[in-house]
Amino acid sequence: MTLPERYDPESARRRMVAEHLRARGIAEPRLLAAFQRVPRHRFVLPEDLDRAYGDHPLGIGEGQTISQPYMVATMLEALALTGAERVLEIGTGSGYQTALLLELAREVYTIERLPGLAACARAVLDRLEYTRYTLRVGDGTLGWPEAAPFDRILVSAGSPRVPPSLVAQLAEGGVLAIPVGDASLQELTLVRKLAGGRVTETRGCACMFVRLVGAEGWHAEG
Ligand code: SAH
Repeated sequence: MTLPERYDPESARRRMVAEHLRARGIAEPRLLAAFQRVPRHRFVLPEDLDRAYGDHPLGIGEGQTISQPYMVATMLEALALTGAERVLEIGTGSGYQTALLLELAREVYTIERLPGLAACARAVLDRLEYTRYTLRVGDGTLGWPEAAPFDRILVSAGSPRVPPSLVAQLAEGGVLAIPVGDASLQELTLVRKLAGGRVTETRGCACMFVRLVGAEGWHAEG
């Protein structure tokens, strides 16, 4: 990837953090520092390089999108990561959010349904020398039972329901964040597993994600 002359990703990121995140109430210093560190432009398609730090989602190929920075920040803020957590991410996509999770948590397991996207994400994460992640291709609605339980589970695709397999793989004290709704509009839903295994569910802000396609999500078309 060749960068245009005078392209300055550092200052583009500083603007993104100030204008799209801090100005809208994202305040957690660790979170803002992670957004300042992760080179979002490395995760977008070459033709979108000059739009990488804009206030919008971008296509990443195969009909999928990398979310708007503010949306990613809202989801990550809801997870309240301290650095000690084992995290399961469903919907690796470009790998951008995976990199942020690696800045904020101890260990990340990430699942992507589409092999082409998974291969690109792995290549970028490896080139950026991230090591504490394991990526696999598969149906994330079923989770990753061999590696469970997880302190946090983050689903970055919209689902008609909360997949029971993911709730089962959440540790006590754990949080699952998932957009739940119909195909065009969802609500960011937080599922908490309390000590003793009791589960609570709260619905938050409206959001728009691509479909979570799998056994406990949307059924594949055709
Ligand atoms: N977090 C990503 C955004 C990904 S968009 C980023 O930062 O770029 C949502 C992704 O979820 C898509 O790549 C899509 O292929 C994937 N996806 C949809 N259903 C899935 C499933 N059941 N398991 C794993 N990945 C899935």
